[in-house]
Amino acid sequence: MKASLIALTAAAALSAAAENFADFALPVVGTDNTKELSNGNLYPCIARPWGAHGWSPQTGDNDTGWFYAYADRRICGIRQTHQPSPWIGDYGQFSLMPAKELDRFDAASRASWFSHKTEFARPYVYRVYLADHDATVEVAPSCRAAAMRATYPKTDRPQFVVDAFSGGEITHVDPNGLFVEGVSRRAKVRWNEKAKAKALENFFRIEFDRPFVSSKTEGPLALLQFAPCTRGGRVNLRVASSFVSMEQAKLNLAEVAGKDVDEVAAEGRAEWNALMARASIETDDVDRRRMYYTCLYRAMLFPRRFFDVGADGRPVHRSPHTLEVLPGRYYCDSGFWDTFRSLFPLLNFLYPEMNAEMTEGLVHCYEEGGWLPEWSSPGFRHCMIGNNSASVVADAFLSGAADMKYAPKLYEALLHGANAVHPEISSEGRLGFEHYNAKGYVPRDVGIRESAARTLEYAYDDWCIWMLGRRLGRPAEELATYAARSGNWRNVFDPARGLACGRNADGSFDADFNKFKWGGDFTEGNALHYTWSVFHDVAALIGAMGGREKFNATLDSIFELPPVFDESYYKTVIHEIREMQIMGFGQYAHGNQPIQHMPYLYDWSGEPWKTQRRVGEIVERLYRPTPDGYCGDEDNGQTSAWYVWSCLGFYPVCPGTGEYALGAPQVPRARIAVGGKTLEISAVLADGSPAADFAATPYVARLELNGTAVDRNYVTRAELAKGGELVFTMSSEPNRKRGTSAAAAPYSRSTSLRQAGE
Ligand code: CA
Repeated sequence: MKASLIALTAAAALSAAAENFADFALPVVGTDNTKELSNGNLYPCIARPWGAHGWSPQTGDNDTGWFYAYADRRICGIRQTHQPSPWIGDYGQFSLMPAKELDRFDAASRASWFSHKTEFARPYVYRVYLADHDATVEVAPSCRAAAMRATYPKTDRPQFVVDAFSGGEITHVDPNGLFVEGVSRRAKVRWNEKAKAKALENFFRIEFDRPFVSSKTEGPLALLQFAPCTRGGRVNLRVASSFVSMEQAKLNLAEVAGKDVDEVAAEGRAEWNALMARASIETDDVDRRRMYYTCLYRAMLFPRRFFDVGADGRPVHRSPHTLEVLPGRYYCDSGFWDTFRSLFPLLNFLYPEMNAEMTEGLVHCYEEGGWLPEWSSPGFRHCMIGNNSASVVADAFLSGAADMKYAPKLYEALLHGANAVHPEISSEGRLGFEHYNAKGYVPRDVGIRESAARTLEYAYDDWCIWMLGRRLGRPAEELATYAARSGNWRNVFDPARGLACGRNADGSFDADFNKFKWGGDFTEGNALHYTWSVFHDVAALIGAMGGREKFNATLDSIFELPPVFDESYYKTVIHEIREMQIMGFGQYAHGNQPIQHMPYLYDWSGEPWKTQRRVGEIVERLYRPTPDGYCGDEDNGQTSAWYVWSCLGFYPVCPGTGEYALGAPQVPRARIAVGGKTLEISAVLADGSPAADFAATPYVARLELNGTAVDRNYVTRAELAKGGELVFTMSSEPNRKRGTSAAAAPYSRSTSLRQAGE
C-alpha cells in the first residue's frame, strides 16, 4: 500500500513536471489592499480545489477581515481560514506558528519580520522564513488536513504556538507530547447572520512527529516546547479539522497520514495541474500566462466543501442551519450576486462534476434552512440583493451538469424563494416580492432600498425559473406567470432617459434621477452600470432604448464619460467608486460585478468589433500578476472567471441559454477538455501564423469552427462540447461586415423565441 502510494506520488510529480500549470498561479496576486481600495481583497489562499479550508499567512489582527496585507512586515501565524471575503469575515479559524525562546506568545509577542523574497507561495504550498525566530515554516494542505514543517536554528527552546483565537480553546494537550486538540468558535455573532452561527465549532487535532517536552496554555493559546535542537532541526506535524466532531477530525487526518509537506505538496500540485489541464493555454507572454492560471486557480476555490467523509465512507456535514450532523454534501462561501454571472457557468462548462455536487448541497441547504442561499458563509448571510440562486440552479440543470433527480426539489425552492422573503435575513428570497408580484416592480418609495436593481435582477431570475420550468414540463399557467414577469425590467426602464430608473408606487420615475449616482435605487453602481442587467433580452433592451444606434452610443458613452460620481447615498466614497475613478476607463467599473458583461453587448447590436477591442483592453489594462493585480474585489471567482472566459474568446452573458457571446481570444492557443472531447482554440493572423500582439490585432476578421465559417456572434456549449478546432483570424482592422445582422446576435427572449415559433 505504502509502496504504491509512493509510486503514484512520483508519477503525479512527473506528469506535473511535464504540464506544470499550477506554478504559474500566484496566490499573492490581489493581496495588496486596504479598506479604502481593493486590488482584489484576497489573501494568499493555499488550498486544494474547492478544499474544505485554506491556509494563509496572517499579518493583521485576528478579528479583521483584512488579516493579511501584502504591505505588512510581520507574520503572526499560519492560519486555517474559511473566509470568502473580508466583508463577510472568517469562521472556524485557528493558527499555528513555529517560534523560539518565547515567554510571552500572544500574536504581538510572537510576530516575526519576514520578506516576500523568502516566500514561496503556490496554490498547493506556502513557505516563508520567519526572521525573528530564524525558522522556516512550510504548509501543504489536503482537502481537510495539512502537513506542516518547522525548521529551527540551534536553540535550547524550539517552540510551536497554537492559537484557537478568542472564543476558542485548547481542549487537550497530550501528556506524552505527541498531539494537541482544540476547538475554534465564534467570539460573537455578526450582525448579518443568525445566532446559530455562534454555536458552530471547528474541531482540530495536531499530531507531531517528535514529542514536545513541555507546554503552557493561556486561554485559547498553547505554547509547546521541544527538546533543544541543532541548526536545521525539524518538527513535522499533521493537522486536520472538522465542523462535525473531534472524532471526524481524527478521521480527516487520514488524508495526510504518513506524508510530509513535500508529499502533500506534490499531490496538491498534481491535483491542480490535472484540473487546470482542462483549460490550458499557450503563450510566450509570461505575465498573461501567470494571470490566466492565477485566475483559473481563483475560480476553483469557492464554493468550498463544508462536508466530511464519515467512517462509513459517506459524505456527512453539520448543518449550519439546524446544527445537526446530517448525511450528504454541503457547499458554501459564495455570494451568488457575484458568482452567478460567469463563475458558475465556467464550472458547468469545465468542471460539471463539481456543480453536480454543489446542486446536491443546495438541496440540503433548502431542506435544512428553508431557503436557497444568496450569500452563504456557511449559513445564510445578509449581503447584497437579487434572487440569483435561480440562475445558479437553472444553469446547472440546463447545461446538463446536475442530476435532474434534484431538479423538482430545487424548482420548488425557486418558486418558494420567488414569492417570499426570509423573515430575519432579507437577502434570502426576495425582499419586496409582494410589490413586485402586484405591480411588476419594487417601488422606490415603499421603504426598500436598491429597488430598481432588485427589479432588474428579479426579472432575469424569473426568466431562469421559466426556462427550468419548461424543461420540467410545469403547468402552462405557471410558466406564463414567470414568462410575463421576466419582462418586468421594462417597468424600471425610463424611455425618456433611455436608462433604468427608480420608480415610485404611483408610477412616476425618480424626479431627482442622476445617472452618476451610486446606490439609492441601484446596488453598488449607478444607472449606467445597472441598465444592462437584462441578460435574457438584450434585443428588447435595444428596442426600448430606441434602436441600435442609440444603444451603441450609450454603450460607447460608458467608456468615454469622465469618472464623475455622486456618493451621497453611501455618505462616503465606497471602494468600488474609487476603483472606477482611478482606472482611466471612464464610467466602466470592472472592479464590481454589475457591469462586467456589458462589453459583450455590442454582439447584439451589430458592432461586435467594439466588444473585441474593449475585451482586449480590459484584459491588458485591468489585470496584472502582481499583488495589486485586480481592479476591485475579486469576489469568489467571478472576476477571475471573467478573465478566463475572455482569454478563451467568449463569455456567458446570459447563464441558462447555453450560449457564449464572442469576444476575441487573448492568447494564441488554448486547449479545452469538455464532454470527453478536446477543443483547440487558436488565434492566427491572415497568413496563418499565431497571433502574438493582441493590442496590434484586436479584431476578429473571421471565425471557423471545424472548418466552417461562423458568422454569428456566439458559440454554444453544445457545439463546443463536440470538440475540434475553433480558429479566430485576427486583424488590425475591424471587419464591419461580420456579425452585423440581427440573426447574428446571441439569444434574446423576445426574438429567439419568435424564431423558435413560440
Ligand atoms: Ca463586488
